[in-house]
Amino acid sequence: MNKAHTGGNVHVLEHPLVAAKMSVLRDKTTATVQFRRALEQIAILLLAEASKHWPTLATEIETPLAPMTAVKLAQPIVFVPILRAGLGLLEGMLRVIPGAEIGHIGLYRDEVTLRPVNYYCRLPAGLAQSQVMLLDPMLATGRSASEAATLLKAQGATNIQFICVVACEVGVEQLRSAHPDIPIYCAAIDPELNEFGYIVPGLGDAGDRYFGTL
Ligand code: URA
Repeated sequence: MNKAHTGGNVHVLEHPLVAAKMSVLRDKTTATVQFRRALEQIAILLLAEASKHWPTLATEIETPLAPMTAVKLAQPIVFVPILRAGLGLLEGMLRVIPGAEIGHIGLYRDEVTLRPVNYYCRLPAGLAQSQVMLLDPMLATGRSASEAATLLKAQGATNIQFICVVACEVGVEQLRSAHPDIPIYCAAIDPELNEFGYIVPGLGDAGDRYFGTL
């Protein structure tokens, strides 16, 4: 991993592999199968960046040739996708940490208040001792991410990282002001949010494109 821009606690991953895969995601002619593969691969690269400073513990092992002091992760890892598009980031991350625990948060937008409403929240126990990765490919208005983070904290989570693919300024500001302690990792920050809440240029509806429900 070579470079990540850091502004406050916002990390924009600058990496040629990520940039090339972002072009695949953004291209409207990309078919579902290629979209899925690129999203899963970007998830792995984002996870590598976000985990760079995770604490480790020394552990004694034996290689086939000799005993040695190795390392293991100090904390349990919990992935929490925000339904449904967050599931698109989960696949890749589970390839790297197949033993991670998984929680799910489902939110929909109330048509009148435009606020996110929680319709599903199932989280593993022990959040207070865990490194929690909150997953949603698009940080648009930031309201869902903020609400999800509030739910996580209410169940004891203290160590949360937010992982997305495309963020926009409005979403970053919303999440940052509601939860200044949560670092944001993304592959790009786009300039605009349109009247329908879509990031422009963005990549369209991440859930529809990942699940092929266009
Ligand atoms: N959700 C999406 O899937 N895309 C956007 O651009 C914004 C929110």
